Amino acid sequence: KCILEVVNLEYSYPDGTNALRKVNLPIIKGEKLAILGSNGAGKSTLFMQLNGTYRPDSGCIKYRGEEISYKNKALIELRKNVGIVFQDPDSQLFSASVYQDISFGPLNLGLSEEKVIERVERALVDTETKDLQDKPTHLLSYGQKKRVSIAGVLAMEPEVIIFDEPTAGMDPRHSQEFMQLLDKLSDQGKTMILSTHDVDLAYSWADRLVIMYRGEIIAQGLPGELFLQP
Ligand code: ADP
Ligand code: ADP
Repeated sequence: KCILEVVNLEYSYPDGTNALRKVNLPIIKGEKLAILGSNGAGKSTLFMQLNGTYRPDSGCIKYRGEEISYKNKALIELRKNVGIVFQDPDSQLFSASVYQDISFGPLNLGLSEEKVIERVERALVDTETKDLQDKPTHLLSYGQKKRVSIAGVLAMEPEVIIFDEPTAGMDPRHSQEFMQLLDKLSDQGKTMILSTHDVDLAYSWADRLVIMYRGEIIAQGLPGELFLQP
């Protein structure tokens, strides 16, 4: 039932920064996993490992029980199934209109026009961005950009969706609204991983919590089991 598994993973950046140290983490199909940790803990680096963007120095990532091979075809398959919503939506939006932006991924998969339209429509509805579809992305508000960047990932129909600090900088009301959107996605059976600094949000949303500190997982457990040191 592990969809992804991180096994004894070690990773240093070329400048020598030891970003991940002996990380072990099973990710269960359909779960909502929150990763807590301050800046620099290694959360984003771990995410880039999970979709094969970075390659471990030692240890490995398993996808559906099989060690990832870093060959092109396997990587394309992995990235289709493990989508990342980056913290800054501007890094993810590059087409002229919202509709074009969301359809870019599915078009690239070589799907039929009919299938592409179907997926884009569903993503627009799920993220409540249908009324924005003809807008140029650069004219959207931050919250709207965030939704459109999620729609782009949803249209790929990934099994796992990773959200890198999705509510960073948001006020409590927007943050609440945003979490409702995530709950809707998890009701559709998606496996979801989210990183955050927000302890309350992590405890209320997640099925399981992981706490990272300086490249290591220092605690993991169910929200009811895991108590933070005061
Ligand atoms: P988080 O997402 O938890 O804030 P990161 O994964 O971004 O943490 O960073 C983990 C560590 O790796 C930090 O010490 C950070 O400074 C370092 N780091 C991140 N990206 C790079 C990079 N491109 N080159 C060198 N060091 C990096
Ligand atoms: P909308 O108009 O779609 O409701 P807003 O653009 O007003 O969305 O922003 C939604 C939330 O994102 C607000 O909580 C706002 O404080 C926050 N926000 C706006 N710009 C940024 C930014 N550049 N980085 C992080 N958070 C932002």
